[in-house]
Amino acid sequence: MTKRYELSELIRGDNFIDGEWVAAVAGKRFDVTNPATGEVIREVADSDTADARAATDAAARAFPAWRDALARDRAAVLHRWHALMVENADALGRLISLEQGKPFAEGRGEVMYGASYVAWFADEATRIYGDLIPQQQRGKRMSAIKEPVGIVAAITPWNFPLAMIARKIAPALAAGCTVVAKPAEDTPLTALALAMLADEAGVPPGVLNLISASRDNAMPAVADWLADNRVRKVTFTGSTPVGKYLARASADTLKKLSLELGGNAPFIVFDDADLEAAVTGLLAAKFRNGGQTCVSPNRVYVHSGVYERFADLLATRVAALKVAPASDPAAQIGPMINERAIDKITRHVDDAVSRGARVLTGGKRLAELGPNYYAPTVLADATPDMHMSCDETFGPVVPLFRFDDEAEAIGAANDTLFGLASYFYSQDVRRIDRVARQLEAGIVGINEGILASEAAPFGGVKESGYGREGSKYGLDDYLSIKYLCQGGLE
Ligand code: ADP
Repeated sequence: MTKRYELSELIRGDNFIDGEWVAAVAGKRFDVTNPATGEVIREVADSDTADARAATDAAARAFPAWRDALARDRAAVLHRWHALMVENADALGRLISLEQGKPFAEGRGEVMYGASYVAWFADEATRIYGDLIPQQQRGKRMSAIKEPVGIVAAITPWNFPLAMIARKIAPALAAGCTVVAKPAEDTPLTALALAMLADEAGVPPGVLNLISASRDNAMPAVADWLADNRVRKVTFTGSTPVGKYLARASADTLKKLSLELGGNAPFIVFDDADLEAAVTGLLAAKFRNGGQTCVSPNRVYVHSGVYERFADLLATRVAALKVAPASDPAAQIGPMINERAIDKITRHVDDAVSRGARVLTGGKRLAELGPNYYAPTVLADATPDMHMSCDETFGPVVPLFRFDDEAEAIGAANDTLFGLASYFYSQDVRRIDRVARQLEAGIVGINEGILASEAAPFGGVKESGYGREGSKYGLDDYLSIKYLCQGGLE
C-alpha cells in the first residue's frame, strides 16, 4: 500500500543527507514564508559549505552501488516514488500553493506534471542501450556503452518547486547518478517533502541529498560543489546571470552542464489566425502561474489588420480573471513570489506607460489583497524601446506590439538574446512551415499555448541555455559514452 500523508507530516525543516534528516552544521535556520500573507510557514536549515561537503561525501559513497544496480531495480524505486507522489498529490499541491502561491488546481497539476517525469525516466532507465559497432578490422570488437556521469548537482528555482527538481532528479537517478540538490530559498519545503517520499520509496541513503540555504548562503554552498572534482555535472534552472556564473565557475573542473535559463518568448498572431483560439492559447500560456514561467509569452506581436479586435477580445477575457489567494477555490492567479518580483513588474509597466503604452486593463498592484498581488494587465501600443521587450517581466502582463508583414514579425521575434519558447497562430500551412523553421527557439507552439510534456524535449538555444529535459533525449545529459575496443579475438 502506498502511504498517504497529512500536509503537516510532509513539512520538513532539516537537510536530507545520507538518508538522515540533519540540521545545518552551523545550526543556522531561515524562514520560509507564505507569499500570500508574508506569514512564516516553517524554519529550515540555512546550509553552507560544510553541509554541501557532507552531501557530496554521501553522494560519493553511494555512487558505486547505485551505478551498478540493475536497471530494473532503479526503475522500480522510481516507480514507487512516482506512486507516492500521485498518492499524495493533494497534500503536495497544497504545500506548493502554501509556499509558492499558485492556486491549488495548478499546484496539484504541477504534482502530476512533475510525477510524469519520474514515471517516464523510470521506464527510460531500462532502455539505456549502447552500440556494437560494425566490425572494422579482423580480430577487433568495438562497442560503445553508456555510463552515468557521476555525482550531479541540481539547483532549482521557485516557480515550479516540485516539477523543476523532479525533472532533474528523475533522469539522474535513472541514469545511475547520485545527486546533491539545493532548491530555491523561497520554496524549499516541497523539495524536502519529495526527498521524504524518495526515502520511503527506497532510494538508498546517499543517492539523493538535499540541502536548503538562504539567498546569502546559496553561493558559498553551491560554490563548494562547483569546486569539487567529484561532482561531474551541474543541472540548473534559473536566471541567465546565475547560469553564466555557474558555467564559468564549473570551468576549472570541466563539469558537464545543463542550463535552462531565462526566456523572452514571442507570441505572434497572424491575420489568418483563428483569433478566439489565439486568445485562449495566450491566456493559457501567459497566465499560468501568474506569468511566472520561463515559457510565458513576454512579447505579443499582432498583425495590424486584426490588432484592435484581438486586443478587445483579450482585454475582456483578462479583466475577468479572478485574482485571489490559493486558499480561494475560484482563484486563477495568486500572489507573485515576493517583493522583488512585484517591484520588477511595477518597474516594467511604469516604464512602458511612460513610453506611450495604453493600459487596456490592470496596470496596478492589488494591495487590498495582500503584499504581493498584481492585476492581470494588457498594454496596447508596445514598442521595442520598452524594457519589457528585452527583459522577461515574469508577471501577469501582456504587451501588444503591432506588425504589418511576416518578415517583420519574425525579425522582431528573433531580436532577443534568448531562445526558449515561441508561439504563433496561423491557419496557412505554408506559413506554418516557414515560420516554425525561422523562429530561433528551442520550443515552438503552433496554434497551441500549452507545450509541456514529459515525452517532449524541453530546452533552449542562445542565452536560454543548453541541454534538454524530458523525452528520449533527456537521459543523454546524465550519461557519458565509453568506447570499448577489444583486440586479440582472432
Ligand atoms: P530568481 O531570480 O528567479 O530567484 P535565480 O537564478 O537567482 O532566479 O535563482 C535560481 C536558483 O539559483 C535558486 O536556487 C537560487 O538560490 C540559486 N542561486 C542564485 N544565485 C546563486 C549563486 N550565486 N550561486 C549558486 N546558486 C545561486
